[in-house]
Amino acid sequence: MLDCELNTGWLQFLEFVKAKCSRAEFDNWIDPIRLSSHSDEEVILEVPNIFVQEYLLDNYKEVLSEFLPLRANGDPALSFLISAPVKPTIKTIGKPAAAPEKEQQSGPEIRLNNTYRFENFIEGASNQFVKSAAFGVATRPGKTYNPLFIHGGVGLGKTHLLHGIGHYVREHHKKLKVQAITTEGFINDIVDSLRSKSLDRMKRYYRNLDLLLVDDIQFLQNRPNFEEEFCNTFETLIHQNKQIVITSDKPPSQLKLSERMVARMEWGLVAHMGIPDLETRVAIIKHKAENKNLCLTSQVAFFIAEHIYNNVRQLEGAINRLCAYVRFQNADLTIDTVERVLNELVQTLPQKKVTVDSIIQSVAQAFEVRVSDLRGESRQKEIALARQVAMYLAKETIEDSLMKIAASFGGKTHSTLLHAWKKIAEKLNSDETLRRQIQMVQRNLETS
Ligand code: ADP
Ligand code: MG
Repeated sequence: MLDCELNTGWLQFLEFVKAKCSRAEFDNWIDPIRLSSHSDEEVILEVPNIFVQEYLLDNYKEVLSEFLPLRANGDPALSFLISAPVKPTIKTIGKPAAAPEKEQQSGPEIRLNNTYRFENFIEGASNQFVKSAAFGVATRPGKTYNPLFIHGGVGLGKTHLLHGIGHYVREHHKKLKVQAITTEGFINDIVDSLRSKSLDRMKRYYRNLDLLLVDDIQFLQNRPNFEEEFCNTFETLIHQNKQIVITSDKPPSQLKLSERMVARMEWGLVAHMGIPDLETRVAIIKHKAENKNLCLTSQVAFFIAEHIYNNVRQLEGAINRLCAYVRFQNADLTIDTVERVLNELVQTLPQKKVTVDSIIQSVAQAFEVRVSDLRGESRQKEIALARQVAMYLAKETIEDSLMKIAASFGGKTHSTLLHAWKKIAEKLNSDETLRRQIQMVQRNLETS
């Protein structure tokens, strides 16, 4: 292929990508790449570091194949050259504002959401344990559980608690150096500092912290180089008894991270943030309404809590809507108006009603036993376990009296149900396979 064709292919690729991705993505990842030279058959790209190379191949290999010549194996004919030292001029054209941002990110300023404080965190059975672990860490950083690993579903208050720790430590241990980052922020920091040749400074900064709060570690998955850098930082801090707190949407063992990383994250305390029960949801609603000077009767608070049940952020959304309504209509909130105002919101939420029957069916399917077995008396090991799981899920998911739920299992008593729930709850602490099986059933229940 002619030189100029290779050149054009690359330029066309750039134009294509520029139109497709966000400005930040382009500036961070694509713009630093230089067409270095090309032999007859391949393009040689100069990249500032291995991360940019990986990023390009991970995200655009197929697209590149359409713009560049192919090798015999179908891959685009590309080679990479890591530029050392990084060209300082790359970013100066047209974008001089990058540096201050970066300084801010790895500088002493921490960005904590001002309302995410312990005082504003409502406790209930689902989050009491994790809240007290967080508080323990905040009062004695580096001296109790290290790391503290908080996992749980979306919108349940993980970031809130993480920042709560940050606020508390900042106010009560003024000398300690605290940083709160998202995993994306950490990755961006690495990329930025590689580009500006300040990686050592950045590493020094992170490794000198007393408390590192890392949000959403799941975004480190499938990014092995960043993972390694994170792991090194992690080890350096932990070995000096510096506190680390991590949040994630899954427990460590379910993250696609290296064994080394998973083992490190399990060193301390792994705590689960559950879905708040009805009473806690009501308390959260009342608290949020009060903060917004919105008058809610208990009846209305219960109504909302009964209809929005698996995400605290959605509860907040509901309160915001009601506030807007009250402001515009200058009217009191009755159940009817609440129903009307929330109608749109509620309709867009997953409202599938989970019943004991649907739980029994899903569990029977996942554990490969018969529905009749789950309602029956058999004490055969597999059946008994599946039955206990179904009872556990029923108690966790269904807001009804234990007596009624137990009765749906072929007339069992409520103490049998409680016993089953306790057994499975205990088992879940150590039995990873069971945890996965139960999650699978839960996913099926949500989507089927
Ligand atoms: P996550 O990080 O788990 O996705 P967030 O911490 O962002 O969830 O919480 C979502 C919203 O719900 C935030 O505004 C947070 O303040 C609020 N929230 C969650 N749990 C509670 C709670 N127990 N008490 C008060 N507010 C809560
Ligand atoms: Mg969060």
